[in-house]
Amino acid sequence: MATEKVGIIGYGAYIPIERIKTELIVKAREKKRKDLSQFLDKVRNGLLLRYKSVASLTEDSTTIATEAALNAVEMAGVEPSKIETVAVGSESKPYAVGTIARHVASFLGLGNQVYVADLEGACNAGMQSMVFIESQILSGKIKYGLAIGTDVAQAPIGDPLEYACGAGAGAFLLGRDDPLATIQDTAAYSSLTLDFWRREGIPVPSHFGRTTVEAYIKHVIGAIEALLLKRPEISLMDFDHVVFHQPSGYMPVKTCKTLTQENIEILDNPELEDRIRITPEFIDEKVKPWLRVLDTGNTYAASTPIATSDILDHAKPGENILAVSYGSGAYTVATWLRVEDAILARRGKVPSVMDYVNRRRDIKLDGYHRLLRFKGGSVRSRLAAPRIVAEIEPYNGQSMRFTLCNGCQRVFYPPRDRCLEYDCEGPVEQHTLPVYARLLSVKKLTLRDRLTSNFDILKQGKVLIVDATLSELTPGMELESLIRRLDNEGKQGLIIYGPTYRPAFRAKALVKKAEASPVLAS
Ligand SMILES: [Zn+2]
Repeated sequence: MATEKVGIIGYGAYIPIERIKTELIVKAREKKRKDLSQFLDKVRNGLLLRYKSVASLTEDSTTIATEAALNAVEMAGVEPSKIETVAVGSESKPYAVGTIARHVASFLGLGNQVYVADLEGACNAGMQSMVFIESQILSGKIKYGLAIGTDVAQAPIGDPLEYACGAGAGAFLLGRDDPLATIQDTAAYSSLTLDFWRREGIPVPSHFGRTTVEAYIKHVIGAIEALLLKRPEISLMDFDHVVFHQPSGYMPVKTCKTLTQENIEILDNPELEDRIRITPEFIDEKVKPWLRVLDTGNTYAASTPIATSDILDHAKPGENILAVSYGSGAYTVATWLRVEDAILARRGKVPSVMDYVNRRRDIKLDGYHRLLRFKGGSVRSRLAAPRIVAEIEPYNGQSMRFTLCNGCQRVFYPPRDRCLEYDCEGPVEQHTLPVYARLLSVKKLTLRDRLTSNFDILKQGKVLIVDATLSELTPGMELESLIRRLDNEGKQGLIIYGPTYRPAFRAKALVKKAEASPVLAS
């Protein structure tokens, strides 16, 4: 059923498998502090920072956006060729020029007649992309569009930002066909407040510390005021679930506490005081359950999309959701969603946010440091990173194609008829790998073999295994393919993406849900 309002017809999240306990990093960085135990208590119980997700060597904002978007598209059941726009909000773009959006479009099999754009707007950019897609659909320009927030959050080593910054992505496929949640309204609030920034060519952001606390509270409340001014029929207490951007657990909770006061002095519109005031119980019941920052850390532009997806995994038809994203600089967007009946049949078709939260491997500080070193290292030093290589056999018939160029030794996915580099004479060869596979044999590359390139591994008909340790891999087990980052050619060259495999996770989550659901099982 087509609706007047634009809505979400599919949504999806992605969180990398590796996590580190925040206190392990804090202990190492702050070991000279005399008040270390009080400081740790503050991080854990005051800032509400417990774990953070860490992107592996094969992951970046593009690959994690791709899996989140795949979940959104599969949940909606829309043919990828019908999607006409991809807009991606991120502040950790793998290319300064070269979009995440077109990579996602190609990796998902979208066509060529597609609007693609990456949006900058710090952590607000994910939800901002949703407003742009909504407008394109409302104007009749497109029928379906993907709005994505994705980040592998960056921070200087030893900066308080490092304790929080995580990695993840959230994606929404918008349209008018039987949405599972409709966008009732949105409102924006912004001012030139550069509390946090990153200069061109500099890998990590800088910030004014506590300036962000003030800017965050002012702009989040500003967007809620703007929404209440537009919609006189609602009050903040009318919402069943509320999420604000989560740089920590502290910030959204502190903002909420500001709104419990008798006199709310921060308001631009004091006449809204009674409609914006909330109770302490409201914070406990409507806000705190969605603090996914406890599991992932601050996922920047993905923070609000992931928490909103978590709400959608649990909400009932008819309920109202308020999602307010915040980006330093400073911008906020308040989005009012109403959950529709279609959610009951559609959610559960892809892994939920909590499925990704619970798919986890805890790493220690040395593993975390090794990862940082490899990520910052040269092409040659990256090859020294431990790699697991496997032989596989096809499992259920679906296959994917990619290209190897023997001239420049590059892997191309999607496949190409000739090399991308005009002067490279190739020749190129076309290869096929199964979408689902069974593991035949597996080994970790030995010290002697470790300079074998990922190109050579694929050329030999073998594949790279990701997201698993050797002990978790047994012959015969089911694997699923995914597109990951295989190589990067120094700091200036191309980033090479291509097929890798991991133990079936998406496939397993789907089977499990089908068994648990009486409707699907009958
Ligand atoms: Zn070539």
